[in-house]
Amino acid sequence: MGSKRFSGDIDASNPDQAIQIADRIWWVGHMLPGDPFQCHVYLIENGDQSVLIDPGSQLTFKNTLGKIEEIIPFSHIRYFVCQHQDPDITAALPLIDQLVNRDDAVIVSHWRTIALLRHYGLDLKFLCIEEQGWKLDIGQCKLEFILTPYLHFAGAFCTFDCQTATLFSSDLFGGFTEEWQLVAKDESYFEAIRPFHEHYMPSRDILYLGLTKLEKYPAKMIAPQHGSIIPEKLISFMFTQLKDIDCGLYLLTQTSTDVLKLTKLNRILHKFMESMAVYRAFREIAEKCLTQISEVIPVTKLEFYALEGDVPCLLLSSESMFRPIETFLPEEFDGLIGGSFSHWLEIYGSHVAYYCGVSCGETDSVCRLTAPLFDPETKVVKSIAVFYLSSQVSPEDEVVEILRQLSVPLGVAVERELIHRSLEQERQKFYEQSIRDPLTNLYTRLYMRESVQRLFAINDRDPHSTVGLISLDIDHFKLVNDTFGHQAGDQVLQEVAWIILRETRDSDIQIRLGGEEFAVFVASEPIEWIKEIAERIRKAVANMSFAGAMENHKFSISSGVIVRRPDEDLISALQRADNLLYQAKHRGRNMVCVEMEE
Ligand code: GH3
Ligand code: MG
Ligand code: MG
Repeated sequence: MGSKRFSGDIDASNPDQAIQIADRIWWVGHMLPGDPFQCHVYLIENGDQSVLIDPGSQLTFKNTLGKIEEIIPFSHIRYFVCQHQDPDITAALPLIDQLVNRDDAVIVSHWRTIALLRHYGLDLKFLCIEEQGWKLDIGQCKLEFILTPYLHFAGAFCTFDCQTATLFSSDLFGGFTEEWQLVAKDESYFEAIRPFHEHYMPSRDILYLGLTKLEKYPAKMIAPQHGSIIPEKLISFMFTQLKDIDCGLYLLTQTSTDVLKLTKLNRILHKFMESMAVYRAFREIAEKCLTQISEVIPVTKLEFYALEGDVPCLLLSSESMFRPIETFLPEEFDGLIGGSFSHWLEIYGSHVAYYCGVSCGETDSVCRLTAPLFDPETKVVKSIAVFYLSSQVSPEDEVVEILRQLSVPLGVAVERELIHRSLEQERQKFYEQSIRDPLTNLYTRLYMRESVQRLFAINDRDPHSTVGLISLDIDHFKLVNDTFGHQAGDQVLQEVAWIILRETRDSDIQIRLGGEEFAVFVASEPIEWIKEIAERIRKAVANMSFAGAMENHKFSISSGVIVRRPDEDLISALQRADNLLYQAKHRGRNMVCVEMEE
């Protein structure tokens, strides 16, 4: 049957026979029912110098032998290449050892593998690939060996057949496949490759390094030891995808070995980390977290409680768009925040690394999980995340694991939000300070420029609206300072400011223009009313009295009142009001002067 030219089409319909996959290359593996690993064995037909790649296990060798002999006599095989040391590759060696009847037959491998294979106590000799310069030149068959250390064995390597450009990739490009499928059909096969690599390859970097070495070979086909053969059209896609996955997922847990569960968990963590990096707003991070976690537990709502500053408690929930709002810590969470993480473990048990308080409300069936979010350095529980569930879950490994993995990044996200909050509060404080006069608490000129523009804009759009302006100045104020001292003067300023506030509305804009000069902008009142306001202020100031040295002193204020003209600017309006104010001063003070209708 051997030596015929390969048609180009792989006919994998009968796995009970050897299957030709390239010129002179045959699949001679055996499908064990129910084995998700599908161990493949490949034969390179090369006359009496033929090569067997990854011979296989004790369980499959009988079938492999039968398939080899469909093509060539077994005695034609001189080289038995073992790309690593796993039993599903090498356990057939003792059987082979008994069968081989030629002195020049060798096991070809890396020294790390050979050091282990010696323990089979075989008669067969070893050929160390390092000593051969990483290649084997056997007539028309030329093999190159590529070391892919730690994928997944320290001395693992792959084999490239130069003549057919077939890459025998050993565990790399392996996959978990439920059904027999010798050749991968399309891109979707990557989903079989992914979990295999996530769990068997130690790390992303190590995998990446191995892949970049392999990528240099112009492979037309990848023949792995498990899963499906990758045809040329899918090779570059699989390389690209593989470079992008996480590996070494067993590091995630000490308890679970459920590959699919771990893959899911890893994806949640991966996505969450991505959200942390991509989104700046805590709301977006929290919402993503909620969607991602609901893939594994039935979460309906997520809340965070944090202790910060002098407020009793801060709550971040979807109701407040995950902005911190002041609240009281619900009784059931009493004592959960603020302590050390080891204290938490003492209370809630160290059998699970993280407390998963599953509690069901008495009146309804609300269940929730509470996870501590702690500072990784100080180990202080700074906040808690509360996951409300639509149905009860038991604190399984998976759930604990997710909360454990999420607790530090979530804690960082909450902390970041609280820092934003305090910065925002600082900013607000500074802004307040810049717009409020500290002595009288009236607005400053700075604020007037901003706010009056808005008032004027409304006034311009609506011709029926009015903006009135009252300009005020305390009479003979210098005398107050000179007679009673500066402090007494300050007291008078405060009292006058208080009267101005009392006699006007919150919606009016009361300003201390400087010294003992004030202005009030009054929206939407007829001029008579505005005059009335100014009169009330004037009378109140005239009736002002102080205890002590100023007891018998009479105070008064002069005032000018105008209504803003259409499109009039601020300077002009202030100027006109001031002119009227000086008229009042001129006419004897303690008086309100109103502009005459033109
Ligand atoms: P007129 O009736 O013409 O307005 O006379 P006046 O004395 O009130 O006016 P003038 O502008 O001459 O004096 C204002 C005084 O107000 C001078 C200044 O020392 C005093 N002054 C300005 N700002 C403050 C302040 O913040 N506190 C105190 N106590 N006095 C101030
Ligand atoms: Mg004055
Ligand atoms: Mg003055």
